[in-house]
Amino acid sequence: MGKITGFMEFERLEQAHEPVKQRKTHFREFITPLNPQQAKKQAARCMDCGTPFCTFSCPLNNVAPEFNDLIYNEKWEEAYRVLAATNNFPEFTSRVCPALCENGCVMNYTNVAMGVKSIERAIITNAWNQGWVKPEPAAGSREKSVAVIGSGPAGLACAQQLARKGYAVTVFEKNKRPGGLLRYGIPDFKLDKSLIDRRIAQMEAEGVRFNCGTSIGIKEHPDGVWSDAERVIDPQELLRDFSAVVLAIGSETPRDLKVAGRELKGVHFAMEYLPSQNKINADEAAHKEISAQDKKVLIIGGGDTGSDCLGTAIRQGASKVLQIDLGPKPPETYDKSSVWPNWPNVYRVSTSQEEGGERAYAISTTEFISNKKGSVKGVKAVRLEWTSDPITGRRMKKEIPGSEFEIEADLVLLAMGFVQPSEPVLKAFGVQTDIRGNAKAAYEGVDAFKTNVPKVFAAGDCRRGQSLVVRALAEGRRCAEAVDKYLEEEDNL
Ligand SMILES: Cc1cc2nc3c(=O)[nH]c(=O)nc-3n(C[C@H](O)[C@H](O)[C@H](O)COP(=O)(O)OP(=O)(O)OC[C@H]3O[C@@H](n4cnc5c(N)ncnc54)[C@H](O)[C@@H]3O)c2cc1C
Repeated sequence: MGKITGFMEFERLEQAHEPVKQRKTHFREFITPLNPQQAKKQAARCMDCGTPFCTFSCPLNNVAPEFNDLIYNEKWEEAYRVLAATNNFPEFTSRVCPALCENGCVMNYTNVAMGVKSIERAIITNAWNQGWVKPEPAAGSREKSVAVIGSGPAGLACAQQLARKGYAVTVFEKNKRPGGLLRYGIPDFKLDKSLIDRRIAQMEAEGVRFNCGTSIGIKEHPDGVWSDAERVIDPQELLRDFSAVVLAIGSETPRDLKVAGRELKGVHFAMEYLPSQNKINADEAAHKEISAQDKKVLIIGGGDTGSDCLGTAIRQGASKVLQIDLGPKPPETYDKSSVWPNWPNVYRVSTSQEEGGERAYAISTTEFISNKKGSVKGVKAVRLEWTSDPITGRRMKKEIPGSEFEIEADLVLLAMGFVQPSEPVLKAFGVQTDIRGNAKAAYEGVDAFKTNVPKVFAAGDCRRGQSLVVRALAEGRRCAEAVDKYLEEEDNL
């Protein structure tokens, strides 16, 4: 513990954000990391409580009390080593993670949580600036090869861990560049893509090979699944050529809204819209360019993907943006004594939502309305009443009679979540699915990450369902351990 009385002396300091008016005019990042003096003071707030709920709350089990203490004592390089020991890519999580660790922080229970995320960002920013982040190639080769399918956070973390153990790892990715949703889903203003390029260069120097523009199993991906694939490889070929195969294909099948008028022009899935802007920013040819400029935009879905659409539409110059949710508005406050250290259902305002647009709740869309040219000009909707079943506590919804109304919109973005990984790809491997259509594999135990198909493993969103970057990283790391164990056991046999 750096400073025994730190938590009583210092207030939490947020990282500086570029003012809304300026940041709305560009697609670049707009948050400035804490400087070393600020980080030191913030690190002093850590109480080093006997039971580090921050560590347990983080899927990567980041050791925040340790790096806080090191930062307070100005041991920056050691702090970086502690951070990197549990997290392959802290520059990603320190930008896009909702910070489950901060929610679990004991100070959050009675006061204001530690700024773990901002300290993490200061550590990794400084580490890159100082040249401490270097390739860490394996000492020797294991003479076994692993194919990782998918280059999102799960695939990247898994590939890096295995390469550092000496395996010959090839990452296959259907899109033009590696990164998965980090690259083509999350907008540039939340995560600058040069950070991914820098990591890919590090991984290549560690021996990882990237085979992009290559789809495994299927050439044509359904609507709403972005694909730049130029070639297809048969799964049987990978099973023949590699000692193990890891499926890290994400959960890309979007939830659709199959009501009348769905086929109209101007109705798009979020993952048709967001990649097109990220590609334009990167000077990559986007085969679908969708712009919100001068349009009335309706975003259906109140979650983070919807919020990313909102920030993007505002930057593109939308004339109006409305984000609607089926669910009721979450409460503004919550009872910490009954929820902490678990994640609360509470009203939140994202940085994009700070920038403009409106939000509305408990609304169900019943029809898309067409103009004379077959383009969308609005939707029909109805208001919902939400109640709880008195016995089971389950939330129930019913339409409020007579509450039908229309919303004008000439661009409608469907951001209602993702239902499952690509079924044809799993089928092509013969991988069994669970009740939700995810690749069936355990998270723990002797069979962790193993699918029903010998030598085929699954990790990340394709195993657990659409989730968070931090969870995908944790899955990738743990899956690498499972693959390593499996290949070692094979050797012993
Ligand atoms: C718009 C959006 C914004 C988000 N924002 C955040 C955020 O701010 N913070 C956060 O924590 N989480 C966020 N998430 C969730 C997070 O991005 C995911 O949970 C995470 O990326 C999952 O990682 P993954 O590696 O399992 O899959 P993905 O990142 O989805 O990567 C899977 C990769 O597999 C490739 N692939 C699929 N099929 C094939 C095939 N047949 N052959 C070759 N390659 C294939 C895909 O092209 C893709 O690159 C967001 C999600 C979305 C959709």
